[in-house]
Amino acid sequence: MLKGASVQYLFWCSGLGKAEWEKLIDGLVKQGILYSPKVVNAMLSVPRVKFLPEDIQSYGAVDTPLQIGFGQTVSAPHMVSIMNEALQLEVGQKVLEVGAGSGWHAATITELVAPKDVPRSEWGHVYTVEIVQVLAETARKNIMNAGYGDRITIINADGSKGYPEKAPYDRIVVTAAAPEVPQPLLDQLKANGVMVIPVGEISLFQTLMRLTKDEAGKIRQENRGEVAFVPLTGKYGFG
Ligand code: SAM
Repeated sequence: MLKGASVQYLFWCSGLGKAEWEKLIDGLVKQGILYSPKVVNAMLSVPRVKFLPEDIQSYGAVDTPLQIGFGQTVSAPHMVSIMNEALQLEVGQKVLEVGAGSGWHAATITELVAPKDVPRSEWGHVYTVEIVQVLAETARKNIMNAGYGDRITIINADGSKGYPEKAPYDRIVVTAAAPEVPQPLLDQLKANGVMVIPVGEISLFQTLMRLTKDEAGKIRQENRGEVAFVPLTGKYGFG
């Protein structure tokens, strides 16, 4: 019996997943959610289905969050698109993601900071932190199977404290809702860096914040609209 990566590979090769994914991305472009050609290409080249458990793969190209176990979700494609556009990712950047989940969002970021068609010496790197050990292991497997193992490092830890070992970062993205912006993440952001993070109460919607740090360390905040995320846990999250 085929399992794991083999089934995902066959599903994708069947062409069914590919056509559905292209249609979904085209819809996000038409809605104006995706607008930068390189972000469109990155989203097109990393179909979500490759990072999903077998039983929900047929929903890969449906624009909704999906359950991945432990009360957690893989974000909806429109939300990952909004965050990736807001991050203004460039080749060579070092990125911290808090909340690896399935590993899919990290892979889409990697297509922008370390694409295979530029020399390895120009690659950036993605560090993604996941607090749930089993999810961190699954994300690692998904990332290896999808061919990103050389450009993404998965860490099983409390990412609300950031990942000081590799700081500072050009970009930080938090994929779970925080009660407020964790100070360690602000400290680990480079000058001229950008952070995207949902902030607010967990019972309701939160605000997607885009923060930039200037050369003097001053932080500027912009509100990018209402969102609904699972809670950030850990020391600087909801506990
Ligand atoms: N980016 C993920 C993907 O591509 O599948 C989806 C992220 S999911 C919406 C949020 C993730 O954040 C969950 O996997 C959850 O376990 C993780 N998380 C919550 N609090 C965390 C923390 N303090 N440190 C690291 N990960 C955390």
